[in-house]
Amino acid sequence: MDIPESLTDIQKLINSGNTTLVDICQEYISRIKTSKTNAFIEIFEKEALLKAEEIQKKIIKNKSGLLVGAFVGLKDNICYKDHTLTASSRILQGFKSMFSATAVEKIINEDAIIIGRLNCDEFAMGSSNENSFYGPVKNPNGENKVPGGSSGGSAAAVAEGLCNIALGSDTGGSIRQPASFCGVVGVKPTYGRISRNGLIAYGSSFDQIGVFSKTVQDANIFISIMSGNDNFDSTVSSRPANNKTIKISNKKFNIGIPEEYLNFEKLDVEVSTKIKSLIDELENKGHKIEYLKFPFLKYLVPTYYVLTTAEASSNLARYDGAHFGYRTKDAKDINSTYEKSRSEGFGIEVKRRIMLGNFVLSSGYYDAYFTKAQKVRRLIKEKTEQMLKRNHVLLLPTTPTTAFNIGEIKDPISMYLQDIFTVHANIAGLPAISLPLGKHSNSLPFGIQLMAGRFEEEKLFEISSLLMPKN
Ligand code: GLN
Repeated sequence: MDIPESLTDIQKLINSGNTTLVDICQEYISRIKTSKTNAFIEIFEKEALLKAEEIQKKIIKNKSGLLVGAFVGLKDNICYKDHTLTASSRILQGFKSMFSATAVEKIINEDAIIIGRLNCDEFAMGSSNENSFYGPVKNPNGENKVPGGSSGGSAAAVAEGLCNIALGSDTGGSIRQPASFCGVVGVKPTYGRISRNGLIAYGSSFDQIGVFSKTVQDANIFISIMSGNDNFDSTVSSRPANNKTIKISNKKFNIGIPEEYLNFEKLDVEVSTKIKSLIDELENKGHKIEYLKFPFLKYLVPTYYVLTTAEASSNLARYDGAHFGYRTKDAKDINSTYEKSRSEGFGIEVKRRIMLGNFVLSSGYYDAYFTKAQKVRRLIKEKTEQMLKRNHVLLLPTTPTTAFNIGEIKDPISMYLQDIFTVHANIAGLPAISLPLGKHSNSLPFGIQLMAGRFEEEKLFEISSLLMPKN
């Protein structure tokens, strides 16, 4: 059975009476069962089918919500009441959520159906989905290629058509980088746009929930519905959400291009050529291109890794073998419970980051690393805001290359450098999107990134739909 890509087309199909929500649900479930990518780690089969039946009745009575037809996979770090949640870590083995994330509640209220749980890097730390307790995810575009990370399962699932929407989290690029590697749309909203209540914390001043989809319109409506005030997260803004449909004007936009990004020595030549021809195209259509100087490119990754590991070392202190999930079999007293549960429960990358975080926060080094990185964060924010004063968006590559091979990058620093173009938006707290730009001659997809000012999601989506007009 063919399922249309966009929500609007699925809704049309259902309304035509030629197919039901239950048929579509069954089709997705059978695709998940035969998939070989390891994107889904659990299917909520029975309840998804029951939900589909229930909502089908509402459709007949014309009482269904705005997200009818959406089958959503949840990254394994987003809470869904009474369902297992592990952040792809052994330390959360057997843990069940006692509540649903606010974002999840909001989409369920509009009749989206949660179809299962998606693989990711442990505690959202990684750029390849290789740091998972459940094993790596394969990129559906190439057997031995990574899907990117940390939301690798989410990107792969949407790319492979195992569900039409996936939620992910983006602390430094975990939505946009895998979206680029898998060839789908991926959005990280403004920090404070969507409640983090029910998202397992990694770097709390960076984390945001976001969405993967095949079309810009679907991403837009999901972000709009998930946005807004929440008593459970004091960092969420009460500003009105972006419009549920994208306004298309004939307006000409000012688009800023930080030169350092395009001149980055490790940027793949084909990716850069394709971006340059997109820039020419935009200019020919009357948009104004301004080349900008951004002298902080090389400081982005170090700033990000000092600050997020500091935050992670504190956020992950709660996993102690007593409160959640895994407890060592050798627990003898309180110290051995803590020490052994954590040693056995966390994977190597998570341990590396906890240690690094503790180091940058330790009394002798606090000012040299943590305070310094906070100051650099401020400089980066101010410079970025200044670039966005004269420009509606900044246009950047999403990733330096297309997806690499599973097992190819062994050195942690080289892995961290994969995030060079995406951490910028998180450091500055700004919304950003990755859109599929095309295919490389190696047949793998890659994306282009747009970044807008704080709470300028509407503009971000409007310009995105100019770049992906069919959606
Ligand atoms: N790849 C980055 C990291 O490892 C980003 C992760 C994320 O956004 N959650 O930290």
